[in-house]
Amino acid sequence: MFVSIANCKRCGRIYNRISRDICPACIKQEDEMLIEIRRYLKQHPEASITDVSEGTGVEYTILVEMIRDGRLMIHNHPNLKYPCERCGMPTQSGRLCAKCAKELAQELKGVRAQLIEKNGDEKSGKGYYSR
Ligand SMILES: [Zn+2]
Ligand SMILES: [Zn+2]
Repeated sequence: MFVSIANCKRCGRIYNRISRDICPACIKQEDEMLIEIRRYLKQHPEASITDVSEGTGVEYTILVEMIRDGRLMIHNHPNLKYPCERCGMPTQSGRLCAKCAKELAQELKGVRAQLIEKNGDEKSGKGYYSR
C-alpha cells in the first residue's frame, strides 16, 4: 500500500497524508474550532475576525485560512473581513479584494496590448537603412 508521509503544516508532527496538509489530530481540533466559531457567530453575527479570535481562542491566521478555504461561511457576517494581499483593504474572499482582482486583470490586458503594439513597431521599422 502506498503511504505518503508528511509533516503537519500546523503542529509539525509526522503523519500519513491523505488529503489535507494537516494531520488528523489537527483536523479534529479544527472541526471542534469550527463548531465553537459557528456557535460564537450565532451569538455575535456582527463580530470581526479579531472578535472571533478573542472570543474563541482560535488564531487570526487560522480563521483567515478557514474563510479562504470556504470551510467557514461568512456571507451572513459582513464584518468578517481580512486584508487584501495587494493593498491591505478588507476583503471577504480569495487573496485579493474585488478592486485589486479587477486591476490585475486590466493590467494583464494592458501588458498584452503593449506587446502587440511593440511587435507591430518592429515590423514596420524593418527594411529601413540609414545608409
Ligand atoms: Zn497536526
Ligand atoms: Zn486590494
